[in-house]
Amino acid sequence: MDLITERWLPITTRSGSRKKIAISDILDNDIQDIAYPRADFQGAAWQFLIGLLQCCVAPVDDEEWAEVWQRGIKPQEWQQSLQIIAPAMQFGAQKPAFLQSFDPLDAENSAINGLLIDAPGGNTLKLNKDHFVKRKSGNQICPHCAVMALYTVQTNSPAGGAGYRVSLRGGGPLTTLLVPLEESHFPLWQKLWLNVLPCESRPALRPEIFPWLAPTLTSEKSGNKVTPGNADRLQAYWGMPRRIELDFTHTEAGRCDLCGEQHGELLVAMRNKNYGVQYDNWLHPLSPYRQSLKELDAPYLALKGQPGGLSYKDWLGLTLKSADNFNRMMPAEVTHNLTRYRRLPALGLWCFAWDMDNAKARCWYQHRIPLIHCVDNEKFSEVIQRIVMFANAGLQVLRNYLKDAWFATPKEAKIDFSMVDIAFWQETEPAFRTVLDALMNDPERQHNTTRQALISWEKNLHLYLLNIFDRSVLADPESPEDILLRQITARHKFEKEYNKLKLRKDVLAMAEQQKEPENVK
Ligand SMILES: [Zn+2]
Repeated sequence: MDLITERWLPITTRSGSRKKIAISDILDNDIQDIAYPRADFQGAAWQFLIGLLQCCVAPVDDEEWAEVWQRGIKPQEWQQSLQIIAPAMQFGAQKPAFLQSFDPLDAENSAINGLLIDAPGGNTLKLNKDHFVKRKSGNQICPHCAVMALYTVQTNSPAGGAGYRVSLRGGGPLTTLLVPLEESHFPLWQKLWLNVLPCESRPALRPEIFPWLAPTLTSEKSGNKVTPGNADRLQAYWGMPRRIELDFTHTEAGRCDLCGEQHGELLVAMRNKNYGVQYDNWLHPLSPYRQSLKELDAPYLALKGQPGGLSYKDWLGLTLKSADNFNRMMPAEVTHNLTRYRRLPALGLWCFAWDMDNAKARCWYQHRIPLIHCVDNEKFSEVIQRIVMFANAGLQVLRNYLKDAWFATPKEAKIDFSMVDIAFWQETEPAFRTVLDALMNDPERQHNTTRQALISWEKNLHLYLLNIFDRSVLADPESPEDILLRQITARHKFEKEYNKLKLRKDVLAMAEQQKEPENVK
């Protein structure tokens, strides 16, 4: 199957209809979005296509980028570039085959659902823990779905036992893609283009970019690592940590377990081997990174999916360079790069990741968040950081005094506060968005409305915390007196501690510190 000419990519059109297209059709303005039934495939397919645009028709500089954004990609250039890389885009039994081991793998066949990140593993099956994702899903997969399953597992590759290498960004990396807020107004190619970087290199067919074109650089020996220094930077889009060979000789006819389509040759088996490519020292252009401030020269680590997903406390680090007491945060290169352009539509970030517990997929998260930007980034970052730190401090005080209210010996009590935390960040988000909008327009807080927004933010937060305290603690009027007394004492202390917070004072001081210039009403 030639991925360039075969119609294998499911998409939706502007009128909402669905069909499958070939890669060479992607410039059609009628194509609205990719349409995979699985969210992780959807995120992977965007990255796959961004990688293709980046390898085939990347602009040489900002000017060319902006010109293509306005006028479109030249169809002839697109087709010619695809022809150059066509040998890397073949999928089937014949090698080289897309994202599969160049060398035949001497290994036992295993079930094809091993390609799916959430397929229950050996231990889960033994313990009968496959409640949500059943062992029988994904046992027969059509070749069209198998292509994206391969790309998804290679892109997210979680830890999987001795020598099973994680993805170029680690296991379950967080991806952040730029998307217009009004997505339906733009064709797919233009949305993808927002995530393409200016780059000097021209289309080339090289194993340093597409590693399946040559024998795998295996990693049995330590030190055999693939880095941006000994490979091409474009390999970031085509990482191949897993050595996989799909079995094209034993197939079955029937319906694909993933897309439901009828197919005469569904894939049912694959071969796997450990010690695939071990990546080191990469900065993937579509992921945000953090660097610990504790040690000198600490490595940059790609952010990963986390229990509970993302909340507004994470937004700043995803869109602007910033730092707190522990880490330096670096947004994805494409996010950082795009803030340089003017005259773009209102943008947001589509953030997604698998939250992995080693090989076990706990949850898939995705969020659409506003793109935080401001002319005066530094001052603005500082103010936003202070606001978020204040929210966090308020939450800490709440947690401490909930414990005091609930237990006679709070120091010994062990409580899982994750429900309180997740609810807090979700439920205070609307108020945060209001103050964020005000500060993006007026980071110096020259206008009275901006200062009022800060004051309202503090008031809202205070009210929220008190409400949660009362709802969680003072819910039973029949409580014995001694317990009631303990609860009321905890509430007084909570109030006192909250009012004493230094960060609260900082936020209120920010609301006062500027004098309103006379010409501003
Ligand atoms: Zn399928």
